[in-house]
Amino acid sequence: MLYIVSTPIGNMKDITLRAIDVLKSVDLIAAEDTRHTGVLCKEYGITAPLTSYYDHNESGKSRELVEQLKAGKNIALVSDAGTPGINDPGYRLVSLAKAEGVEMCVIPGACAVIAALSLSALPTDRFAFYGFLPVKSGARRKKILQAAEAGGTAIFYESTHRLLKALKDIEDVLHDPVITVARELTKKFEERRDGKASELLAHFTAHKPLGEFVILFHIES
Ligand code: SAM
Repeated sequence: MLYIVSTPIGNMKDITLRAIDVLKSVDLIAAEDTRHTGVLCKEYGITAPLTSYYDHNESGKSRELVEQLKAGKNIALVSDAGTPGINDPGYRLVSLAKAEGVEMCVIPGACAVIAALSLSALPTDRFAFYGFLPVKSGARRKKILQAAEAGGTAIFYESTHRLLKALKDIEDVLHDPVITVARELTKKFEERRDGKASELLAHFTAHKPLGEFVILFHIES
């Protein structure tokens, strides 16, 4: 059985009882970064062996793990934070496992997209997640426009060092809409900040952006 297990996105207590049970019981944990997951395992007394499964070894490692699964092993897939496959490794293993008829089971839990959406106070009936905004400004602007044209609530992950550029592009491309920035969810400095893109740009220019960010906006369609 392949277990797809969500782990915390900051606060170590955001893990389900079932996730802990599964991680304690499996033969192997496939982790994005074994040192990172090692900290979680230590916290919860999880002693299952860890093996690394990350972006650059996903293809070969997926085949190896699927062979073990087919031989009857129970394996848990985890990423560094949140839900595997959501802007984290996982997709290749899960799709190969499906193709090979391996049984799978999901242990849901923390995910920054959903945490940010539920905290945003924006409409939740129709939303789209676009992952990280592109690094290059032209592609970033295009993505922002496409998301706005699609309508509903658009959600993006953004890194600390590109936040200001993303806010500036949203201001320019969408004529300074009201947006939400969710920062450091579940952690000590958790913050939700709403306002025009230009206002948030001014705020984060004055207060150096630190931590992990989700950007959201809602466009009526
Ligand atoms: N798999 C994760 C999930 O389920 O949300 C996402 C991993 S992705 C590599 C990391 C990005 O997710 C960060 O750069 C940030 O945009 C977002 N993120 C993760 N944890 C967060 C948190 N505690 N607060 C705000 N954003 C977070």
